[in-house]
Amino acid sequence: MTITVHPVIGLPLIRPGDDLPGLIAARIDLFDGDILCIASSVWSKAKGYLRRLDEITPSERAQAIAGRTGEDPRFIQAVLDESEELLLEYPFVLSVLPHGHIGVRAGVDQSNVDGGQVILLPPDPMGAAGELRASLEALSGARIGVIVTDTCGRAFRRGQTGHAIGWSGLTAIRDFRGDTDLFGHTLQITEEAVVDECAGFANLVMGESNNGVPAVVIRGLPAWTGHDDLYWHEGEDLIREALCARYPLEPLR
Ligand code: GDP
Ligand code: MN
Ligand code: MN
Repeated sequence: MTITVHPVIGLPLIRPGDDLPGLIAARIDLFDGDILCIASSVWSKAKGYLRRLDEITPSERAQAIAGRTGEDPRFIQAVLDESEELLLEYPFVLSVLPHGHIGVRAGVDQSNVDGGQVILLPPDPMGAAGELRASLEALSGARIGVIVTDTCGRAFRRGQTGHAIGWSGLTAIRDFRGDTDLFGHTLQITEEAVVDECAGFANLVMGESNNGVPAVVIRGLPAWTGHDDLYWHEGEDLIREALCARYPLEPLR
C-alpha cells in the first residue's frame, strides 16, 4: 500500500465570494478515493464568515475575561458569540460550539486575514464538507471524501495538530471493535479517529503561517467502515465533566 499526499499549490488569497471548488479543481486532478482536506479558515473566508473588530461592542463579561487573558475584549466577544457553552475562561477561553466541536477561543482566528478582522469557524462544518464534496465531484467526475480541518490544541500534551471539524464521503471513525488482533484476542474498544489522523497529516503539509497551502489531497488510503459519532455524548466526556466541576462558570445565555 502506498499513500501519497499532495498539496494544492498556487491558490490565491481567498476573499468572500470566491469559488473555492473551482479554484481547487483548476489546480489538481482528483481521482476516485481521494480525500481532499481543506483548512476551515479558507472555507470561512470564501463564505464571508468574518467579523470586523471595530464593529463589535464587548459585553461586561467579555471585558472581564479579556482583562484576565490580556486579549482584545472585542475579540473575546466574537469568541463568546460563537460559543454555546464555556468550559474555561482563563488562562484561555475554551468553549463548546453549536456543532459539537470544543476549541480554544472557539476556533476564532486572527491570523491569515486582513488586519482588524477575525475568521470564525464555519457554522456548519459538516454541511461545508458536503457542499465542497458535491462541487468537487461535479467538477472532477471523481468520487472523493472531504475533510474540513482546523489546527487545535489537545488535552494532556503540548503542541497543536490538525483536527477534523467536518467531513463528508467517509466516516469519522474506523471501528475495529469485534476484529481480532495478531493473537486472536477480540478488540473491545478500539475506534480509530481516521478523520483526525488525516487532518493531522494534512495540517502538517499545510503549515501554519505563510505557506499558502490550505488544501491537501490524500491519495491511496484504503476505504474503511465505521461511524460518525466523533464527539462524546452528554455524560460520556470525563474531562469535560471534570473541568466543569473544577471551574464552575456562569452560563452564557
Ligand atoms: P486553520 O488551520 O484552518 O486555522 O488555517 P491556517 O490559518 O493555519 O492556514 C492553513 C494554511 O492555509 C497555511 O498554509 C496558510 O498559509 C494557508 N492559507 C490561509 N489563508 C489562505 C488564503 O487565503 N490563500 C492561500 N493560498 N493560503 C491560505
Ligand atoms: Mn484555525
Ligand atoms: Mn492551521
